[in-house]
Amino acid sequence: FWEPQVRVVTPGSGTAAPSDAVVLFDGKDASKWESAKDGSAPKWELKDGAMTVVRGAGDVRTKDKFGDFQLHIEWRAPEKVESQGQGRGNSGIFLQDRYELQVLDSYQSRTYSNGQAGSIYKQTPPLVNAMRKPGEWQVYDIVYTAPRFKEDGSVFSPARVTVLHNGVLVQNNFEIKGPTEYIGLPKYKVHDEAPIRLQDHGNPVSYRNIWIRKL
Ligand code: MG
Repeated sequence: FWEPQVRVVTPGSGTAAPSDAVVLFDGKDASKWESAKDGSAPKWELKDGAMTVVRGAGDVRTKDKFGDFQLHIEWRAPEKVESQGQGRGNSGIFLQDRYELQVLDSYQSRTYSNGQAGSIYKQTPPLVNAMRKPGEWQVYDIVYTAPRFKEDGSVFSPARVTVLHNGVLVQNNFEIKGPTEYIGLPKYKVHDEAPIRLQDHGNPVSYRNIWIRKL
């Protein structure tokens, strides 16, 4: 068949945003972000084409809210290694403000497997460890399907996520069990579209080239 016709998207060169993406951060302009504490302008450091966690400044989140999406995001753990395990280049990308895809310097550094880079934190480890060295840029390409809820508040279909880390598949359509918990079993609560949130875990992790396509 010929109809409907397929929409044309001009791909970006390399890792640049394709024509139908919303650029969330281009390395200079953080105006699409706000402090998750109080909605004020983010207090992270904006320098050298990246935004970097400032310890104590708190998480930052997008002003816009999202449902299903494709997200491209690049991150960098500090070149200077100061700690081990969860204390080394820890941050995180909270999909819809509640489901954490772990950001961590897992290059030749062990921690619990379901807490290393590319894990859905405390739920499932990545399929492999595709880390580059600390100080080098890492890429996550994420395909996310939001959960659907029934009218009575129960889950119709859980959230699902596929993640490529530096082009290597680390999550393959994983069924998210519920909001990220540090301890205890996750349990879904009804929600609508929600922001992307980046974690301040006290380590100066940097982000750049963030773009999203609503699906
Ligand atoms: Mg984290």
